[in-house]
Amino acid sequence: MAKFPHPIQKFIMQLRKLPGVGAKTAERYAFEMLSWEPEAVQLFSQALQSLQVEIQTCSHCCCLKGETECDYCNPTKRDSSLLCIVSSAKDIYPIEETRIFRGMYHVLGAVLSPLHGYNTEQIDIKKIKLRIQSQGVTDVILALDSTIEGDATSLFLKEELQTFPINISRLAFGIPLGSSLDYVDSGTLTRAFLGRHRF
Ligand SMILES: [Zn+2]
Repeated sequence: MAKFPHPIQKFIMQLRKLPGVGAKTAERYAFEMLSWEPEAVQLFSQALQSLQVEIQTCSHCCCLKGETECDYCNPTKRDSSLLCIVSSAKDIYPIEETRIFRGMYHVLGAVLSPLHGYNTEQIDIKKIKLRIQSQGVTDVILALDSTIEGDATSLFLKEELQTFPINISRLAFGIPLGSSLDYVDSGTLTRAFLGRHRF
């Protein structure tokens, strides 16, 4: 790193903790922010601090919430018979954007990854089983990444939950809209085949 004055170096080191931010980008951000008006700097740092103070994790579904009750756990707003399992709290937002799902969520917090020390003990399967029973869940939708870890976690959940009289489905990772079969890799195509539904 170029020899910038110490406060700038320090700030660049903080920025580089962000995903996808390398040395050059961090430098650009730092110099951009250096030119900000004091009010803009204050707004930025206040917004960052309030993330920790005002955002909480719902103790029931582990979705993020403000200081009010969790919207996703409200049975008057959501269908409690449908439970969508995701790995991270941020995964629910793209699903919400599609507006096709009006059920409830359960955030795992991690997927199985022996290399990173996440094994089946890290998944609170008891909590999921309790929710299935207490909420009268009829359908569990596994919305986990299409990765080795996501596959392993889906398989684990399917095996653990198969004793319940429920439908378990997994998102079909299909062919991107508008793309020709020639351009789709074989993994995607296999998934699209396996996840196909009646036409
Ligand atoms: Zn909740």
